[in-house]
Amino acid sequence: MVKLTLLGATGSIGSSTLAVVREQDPRFAIRLATAHSDHQKLLRIAREFEVPVLVFTGIPDPAVQDRLRRQEPSRRIFFGEEELLQTLASEDYDTALNAISGSAGLRSSFAIAARGKKLALANKESLVLAGHLLMPLIQSGTAELVPVDSEHSALFQAIGNHPAAEIRKLHITASGGAFRELPLAEFPKITVEQALRHPNWEMGAKVTLDSATMFNKALEVMEAHWLFGLPYDRITALIHPQSVIHSLVEFIDGSFLAQLSTPDMKLPILYALSHPERFASQLVSTDLLQLGALSFQAIAPERYPLYFLGLEAARRGGIFPTVINSANEAALRLFLERRIAFTQIPSLCDQALQKQQAIADPDLETIVEVNRRVYEQTLAKG
Ligand code: NAD
Ligand code: MG
Repeated sequence: MVKLTLLGATGSIGSSTLAVVREQDPRFAIRLATAHSDHQKLLRIAREFEVPVLVFTGIPDPAVQDRLRRQEPSRRIFFGEEELLQTLASEDYDTALNAISGSAGLRSSFAIAARGKKLALANKESLVLAGHLLMPLIQSGTAELVPVDSEHSALFQAIGNHPAAEIRKLHITASGGAFRELPLAEFPKITVEQALRHPNWEMGAKVTLDSATMFNKALEVMEAHWLFGLPYDRITALIHPQSVIHSLVEFIDGSFLAQLSTPDMKLPILYALSHPERFASQLVSTDLLQLGALSFQAIAPERYPLYFLGLEAARRGGIFPTVINSANEAALRLFLERRIAFTQIPSLCDQALQKQQAIADPDLETIVEVNRRVYEQTLAKG
């Protein structure tokens, strides 16, 4: 039986992971589960899956903490990021799936990697902000990194044991998000409700908005750069509206390998947990005859400026991916609070990049500090 830690158990990836664990019973036992603040949901999960250790990172009120501990005397319950990092460093588990959303998931990935455990990574921000530190940490010890993001799971499966030198290019597919067809003249009037409606995938709010702006694809290009060790001129993205082909590898002989399925995160989650094996599952099925035509389109700069700005930050490297990611997180919050228009999201990101001095090889503390500062400065502009 595999002992599992599930970070972000109450989110969208968290729920899909629970569905996988439920189907695969008794292969996995969840030993540690975390949430930001939704205690009712995490306690429901803890009871169903008999989870002995829980961590809430977003419940600072001691009275609420006491009440939760009294309510669940059979479980050990911890609070705050410091206690989360301590439990990751000391509890007994084999594999940790990091499904915390945004830069808040960064330090947990390092705690898991430093412990030498298997890290199933949904939190792409860990690689975007600190791939230059996380990859060497993983490669130098016993830890193992398996991607959960569907595009990277597809690439990981298609690459197999082929070395980077045999790969000509990675092609990451994008759905095009909520506004693939919307006339450009209507962009300034986009509402929060429209932006939260994704055509193909059911996901958390942050990644759904990042799909609408295509910033998510810039993050995924950076994620692929670190995971597979390829330079940016050998990684590209294109729109594939059906979201059936989850990404493609073009090899040096001109051959392409791709991974296909109905878009459902349970499949890449299952693969991350079962790797290097495959486990039988009925959770996702794909009927080829129902798929119809599969098509591709280029990403248009006037529709998705944030994708291109993200690539520019990626190529500049160092601290710039942290800066644009943090500015984007703050801008999304401002948009969700209806304090800025959808079209202001890229301009706030651009302003943050313009303001930042280069830092070539930032350490983790610098990344955390710049991340916090840019977030606050960008929020103040709303
Ligand atoms: P979500 O918003 O649905 O859930 C986020 C989870 O993280 C929740 O359990 C929440 O309690 C927790 N959380 C939020 N803020 C936190 C904080 N400050 N500290 C600690 N925990 C916190 O997000 P999601 O859609 O499940 O995405 C999670 C991660 O997976 C993101 O990095 C996202 O980019 C990535 N991802 C998601 C999908 C998807 O289909 N949802 C696909 C690919 C990758
Ligand atoms: Mg993805």
